[in-house]
Amino acid sequence: MAAGRPERGHDTPVNPSVVFSSTFVGLGSVGEGARGYARFSNPTWEPFEEAVARLEGAEIPALLFSSGMAAVAAALSLVPVGGVLVAPAHAYSGTLGLAQAKGVRGELELRSVDIADTEATVAALDGADVLWVESPTNPMMEVADLPALTAAAHAAGALVVVDNTFSTPLGQRPLSVGADVVVHSATKYLAGHSDVLLGLAVTADDEIRARLLGHRTLHGAIAGPMEAWLGLRGLRTLALRVERSQATAAELARRLEGHPAVRRTRYPGLVSDPGHERAAAQFDGFGSIISIELDDAAAADALVAGLALWLPATSLGGVESTIERRRRHVAEPATVPEGLVRLSVGIENVDDLWADLAQGLDALV
Ligand SMILES: *Cc1c(COP(=O)(O)O)cnc(C)c1O
Repeated sequence: MAAGRPERGHDTPVNPSVVFSSTFVGLGSVGEGARGYARFSNPTWEPFEEAVARLEGAEIPALLFSSGMAAVAAALSLVPVGGVLVAPAHAYSGTLGLAQAKGVRGELELRSVDIADTEATVAALDGADVLWVESPTNPMMEVADLPALTAAAHAAGALVVVDNTFSTPLGQRPLSVGADVVVHSATKYLAGHSDVLLGLAVTADDEIRARLLGHRTLHGAIAGPMEAWLGLRGLRTLALRVERSQATAAELARRLEGHPAVRRTRYPGLVSDPGHERAAAQFDGFGSIISIELDDAAAADALVAGLALWLPATSLGGVESTIERRRRHVAEPATVPEGLVRLSVGIENVDDLWADLAQGLDALV
C-alpha cells in the first residue's frame, strides 16, 4: 500500500506527521472544508482515510472512527426512525446487540435472515431500508451471494452495508458490486497488530458520506491521532500479512478437517465447505479465519486452555494467532454451537501452529 504518503520534495518525510492539537487557529468562518476543531477533522486521519478508500475503490476519502462499533453505529444510523433493517442472524455480536437494542426501543424493525439463503433474504427485503451483510459471517463463516443480494436490495429501495472486516479489501471490494457502504473494524486486519481500536466507513456516494460524517462529528466517535498513525503504519504490511496468514489458514484447515476430534471445519477455502463455490467466484482469497466444531463446550475449553503458541483471546486479524470458544460470550447467538472454536491465523510458522493445535486435539480423542 503506497497511498497516504506526504507529497514528495527534497528532504520531505516519507511518513505523515502526527498532529496533536484539539483546535485550529481560526481567522475565517468555520464551514465546509475548514478544520475549526479536532472533533471535525484532524490531518493525521486523512492519509489513512485516503489509503483505505483507494483499497476499497472509492474516489472520496473514507471516514475513520474510534472503533469498529463506532463505524457500525454510524452506518446503522442510515436506517430511518421506524425503518426496516435486514441483517444476518449470525454476525458480529456487537452489531447484533446494537441492532436488537434499537429494535427493542422501537427505533427500527429488525429482520434476521440466513444471509447464505439468497431466496429467504430477498423475501425479507420487502419494505426494507438497509440490508446489512457480513460475508463470511462471524463466526459461522457463511458466504452470501453479494451481487445477487445487492441487486435485490436496490430493487427494493434498500441501501446495502457490508462489514468487510473478515475479508479485507484485498479479499473483496463490495463497492465494486454496488454496495453503498463498507464498514471495517480496523482494529483487526487493517491495523493488524492488536495494539489499537479503530473503525472505518467507506462509500462512493457524497450524500451518504455527509450523513456518516455528521454522525461521527456529533456523536464524537473520533480516533486519536496516535491511533490513526498506527493504523496507517499497520496498513503498510496488510498485503504481506494477508498473503502469509491466508496460506497458513488454508493448510491448517486441510489438516483440521482430517483430525478425528474435529466434527466440522468451517472455512470457505475447503472444497467441502457449503460456501466454497460462492467464495471462489467472489473472493480474491479465502481469508485467515477458521471455525471448528468440537464435541461440546468442555472439549472446546480444554483445547483453548491447552495451547502454548495460540493466544486464548478474543479479537482477530493480528500478527499473532488467537483462538476462542465463541459461546463463552453470553451475547453470542444461541444458534452458534457450544463447541465452536474460532481461530484467527496469524503469521507464525505453519508447522509450529499445527504442532501446538495437534497436541491439543490429540488430547481430546
Ligand atoms: C471486531 C468486529 C467489529 C467491532 O469492531 P471494534 O473495533 O471491536 O469496535 C465489527 N465487525 C466485525 C466483523 C468484527 O470482527
